Amino acid sequence: MSDPAVFDADLMQGWEMTVDRLITHAERWHGTREVVTRLADGRISRTTWAATAHRARQVTAALIAQGIAPGTRIGTLAMNSARHVEVWYGVMGHGAVCHTLNPRLFDDQLIYMINHADDRWIFVDPVFRPLMERLLPHCPGVAKVIYLGDPGEAGALSGAAVDYEALIAGADPASARWGQFSERDPAALCYTSGTTGNPKGVQYSHRSQLLHTLISGQKDFLGLSSRDTLLSVVPMFHVNAWGLPFIAAAAGSKLVLPGARLDGAAVYELLETEAVTFTAAVPTVWQLLLDFLTVNQLQLTTLKRVAIGGSACTEALIRGFRDGHGVEVLHAWGMTEMSPIGTISGPLPPSLGTPDEATRMAYNLKQGRVPFGVDMKITSDDGVDQPHDGAAPGHIKVAGPSILQRYFRDDKPAVDAEGYFDTGDIGTIDPHGYLQITDRSKDLIKSGGEWISSVEIENIASGHPKALLAAVIAIPHPKWRERPLLVIQLRPGETATAEEMLAFLKGKIATWWIPDGVQFIEAMPLGATGKLDKKVLRARYATTAA
Ligand code: ADP
Repeated sequence: MSDPAVFDADLMQGWEMTVDRLITHAERWHGTREVVTRLADGRISRTTWAATAHRARQVTAALIAQGIAPGTRIGTLAMNSARHVEVWYGVMGHGAVCHTLNPRLFDDQLIYMINHADDRWIFVDPVFRPLMERLLPHCPGVAKVIYLGDPGEAGALSGAAVDYEALIAGADPASARWGQFSERDPAALCYTSGTTGNPKGVQYSHRSQLLHTLISGQKDFLGLSSRDTLLSVVPMFHVNAWGLPFIAAAAGSKLVLPGARLDGAAVYELLETEAVTFTAAVPTVWQLLLDFLTVNQLQLTTLKRVAIGGSACTEALIRGFRDGHGVEVLHAWGMTEMSPIGTISGPLPPSLGTPDEATRMAYNLKQGRVPFGVDMKITSDDGVDQPHDGAAPGHIKVAGPSILQRYFRDDKPAVDAEGYFDTGDIGTIDPHGYLQITDRSKDLIKSGGEWISSVEIENIASGHPKALLAAVIAIPHPKWRERPLLVIQLRPGETATAEEMLAFLKGKIATWWIPDGVQFIEAMPLGATGKLDKKVLRARYATTAA
């Protein structure tokens, strides 16, 4: 008799899912595909996946030579560039943890994150040298700062500060042996922006990152191919650029990295000169681009698809891309804790048949459907599953291999008894499986005991031809406890009255949802990832009478 233990065992290869495999794949099978960077001075620098992998190994070799042990946190304070990509693969390939820091955060938030993570080295873009020098005296654990520019670009350096090119110049890539660790080991660390309390760390494992790459790369989702040219406008410090530098390596796409300039003119120029087919960023970036195109009467000639997420995508944006430029919009929802992809509204499923234009738009405005690899439910305040009828709102809870279980350095589980993570978002799910976010639980407006969706009112208000950006917040009310206030940033040169803004909403939402007032604002406050900062608005208008 043969031994059943041998036959019943897993007979397939134990191929650890570590992220170095992604760039090794790109190096071996898509080695000549380009990685293009717009440098700080505007010059374009071209390299390839093969050369990027080579230099990433040099980063690993430098870490080894200087005694950095696997598991050590290594920070980056940088915009998107090939050097940043080399550092992230070099750090992760070594088994160290790449902690991407957002340079737009306040100093005290960055100091908290660097110290909480115990970052030992930080790779910094030369433009952020003044910021780094302000932070350093408060971050005693940081032993080395490496400036990611050409030699001398950061100015004269001494002590713990060195030039990146000098660091890797003598490093022998052959001494870097990648993937000598478990797929469960940590690869990367990102902090949530901490809109309430201290920022919280989300530590991704190699396995969670690699599975996220496969999950989000599916055809109905980001679906990139070797024929795509991908412009990652979303910064690498915003949830690892939504995983795009991993997905691009897996697919063998050409990768374009825009550096610091993300204004309409700069993004347009890269889209056209590099013949970009796919791009991704938060709505505010796309608003700027579409405005630039309209004002200058320009056309996008190569772009096929744009992923828009991080906050709700408006009808004006979808129309601007689709009707104005023939570009398909993928409206994505997710968060740091989900690596980040949760749902995407892109191509419609067959169950919707061939809907008319209004129905199509209604579905594109929803946040979309889950890919394989994300499970989702909505529950009432007391935890009861809500029906998928498109009407009953609930707390959105998610489970999957690239979703957080526990925050970094926190011993409490962040999931419920069934293993679901409460996203803090509120939404409905319809019979076609479409999620629609109605609010973040902390942005909810509760008027007379009923919820009002700030997101829905914002979507409609931002469609007013004179409005550039719209936000709806709760203000205190003696009778109803809270009432909505509409805050509008008008397009340059426009003037408008509160009455005409409110008249635009009439008939489109329930009468009791109509905001009690309108405030016009010069410039909408934006948070560190380019989203509207409602916290600032709430503080500013807290005493506004409803
Ligand atoms: P933060 O905004 O707190 O810095 P994240 O980038 O992780 O952190 O943002 C996640 C949050 O952004 C989600 O919980 C959700 O409220 C919001 N969000 C993301 N995508 C969308 C979307 N497509 N529509 C509406 N809200 C979104």
